Amino acid sequence: KYRRELQLRKKCHNELVRLKGNIRVFGRVRPITKEDGEGPEAANAVTFDADDDAVLHLLHKGKQVSFELDKVFPPQASQEEVFQEVQALVTSCIDGYNVCIFAYGQTGAGKTYTMEGTAANPGINQRALQLLFSEVRGKAADWDYAITVSAAEIYNEALRDLLGKEPQEKLEIKLCPDGSGQLYVPGLTEFRVQSVEDINKVFEFGHVKRVTECTNLNEHSSRSHALLIVTVRGLDRSTGLRTTGKLNLVDLAGSERVGRSGAEGSRLREAQHINKSLSALGDVIYALRSRQGHVPFRNSKLTYLLQDSLSGDSKTLMMVQVSPAEKNTSETLCSLKFAERVRSVELGPVSRKAELGSWPSQEHLEGDSPGSAAPPG
Ligand code: ADP
Ligand code: MG
Repeated sequence: KYRRELQLRKKCHNELVRLKGNIRVFGRVRPITKEDGEGPEAANAVTFDADDDAVLHLLHKGKQVSFELDKVFPPQASQEEVFQEVQALVTSCIDGYNVCIFAYGQTGAGKTYTMEGTAANPGINQRALQLLFSEVRGKAADWDYAITVSAAEIYNEALRDLLGKEPQEKLEIKLCPDGSGQLYVPGLTEFRVQSVEDINKVFEFGHVKRVTECTNLNEHSSRSHALLIVTVRGLDRSTGLRTTGKLNLVDLAGSERVGRSGAEGSRLREAQHINKSLSALGDVIYALRSRQGHVPFRNSKLTYLLQDSLSGDSKTLMMVQVSPAEKNTSETLCSLKFAERVRSVELGPVSRKAELGSWPSQEHLEGDSPGSAAPPG
């Protein structure tokens, strides 16, 4: 019975993908905070469309620029409302799909709030795990499921385990020796979680580890990508059918253009690494959406690690976080351009692709050379 349901859902999914593609871009505008300043400084630079929840307008240097995404969440949107739009994506990993959810945007725009949230108001990470537990429980009559989680961060192109007992070690991404073309990370800790309490323990552990192993968490987290990788493995007891789905929840490094503020030495190197991996992510999504034959997964650790979860019939959601503050409009403009770029690649004749040009990778850092070297293989 479940198998039929699975087939039906696959068919629905394929139809949806044929119509709309499997990459979605949402925008979320955070509320004004004290740091945004008072008076004209705090003026709300972002406005919405009364009858179109996919549109937002940005007032930048006296000019209004409008953007159309797949959906826009205004400041008053609750964590529940956001999760409602994400939950179908989350549960599809029970059916064996790989899913990536990214939070993108400048530091302070609400990436961590959306992904982690607060104790009183948890974000996507915790809600996703809770939902997976309850869905899996609902199928327990026919299926055995195992849900495991890993947590990692990528800092200066180095991948580190956030759940290992040892101090953070540098990990390598390897190709599975079985010839399946799958990637894996030897040594990355995978915890089996069986309850909400287990998840909380895992989150707490990862958080403590991150806090104790870096001198300034705020600075550190704005320059590194934090990944929560949830794997759902299922076994249909009567037929022996097996499914594996992966949910990757990624709090990206801040997208701000550090290069412009006169960073030098290690700060500049850091900025270039961040820039490289964010533009590499953009390049990959662009290539996938425009159905280019070559997808440059290997140009950054992040895209290489997520290769399996970005290609094939995987699903991707980019949540672009936006500050409503007047003083942030330059960065907001860049973020929204990134969003629009990711989204607006039409699956049309090849000639249209040429028109759209290449990804504006250099936008994030002045002086950084556009385009990246061809990956090996
Ligand atoms: P980032 O991770 O992008 O640097 P944060 O998630 O830390 O940004 O958000 C910056 C501040 O704004 C935090 O204090 C956070 O609690 C608050 N904030 C962000 N988004 C929201 C929201 N939707 N509702 C309420 N507070 C928010
Ligand atoms: Mg953050």
